[in-house]
Amino acid sequence: MSFVLACPHCGPRPVDEFAYSGEVTRRPQSSPTLRELTDYVYFRDNVAGRQREWWQHRQGCGEWFLAERDTRTNEIISVSLPKPGT
Ligand SMILES: [Zn+2]
Repeated sequence: MSFVLACPHCGPRPVDEFAYSGEVTRRPQSSPTLRELTDYVYFRDNVAGRQREWWQHRQGCGEWFLAERDTRTNEIISVSLPKPGT
């Protein structure tokens, strides 16, 4: 499936120029339990709907950024550069 994704630096480009790197996750606290660490490493929410994701403009400027995408339709709701600690 093909769709257009807007790089924060380069603007709209075919999705083939980008690398998908998965949904945004939260690191567990400083001393996670084995269960929390296992969930963080191996499990994803895989929602059918709006999801925040990491993308890289691999065949363009190389920038890493966040996109909110509807996984059912591939509609891009927003793109943004990550803030420190994201
Ligand atoms: Zn770019």
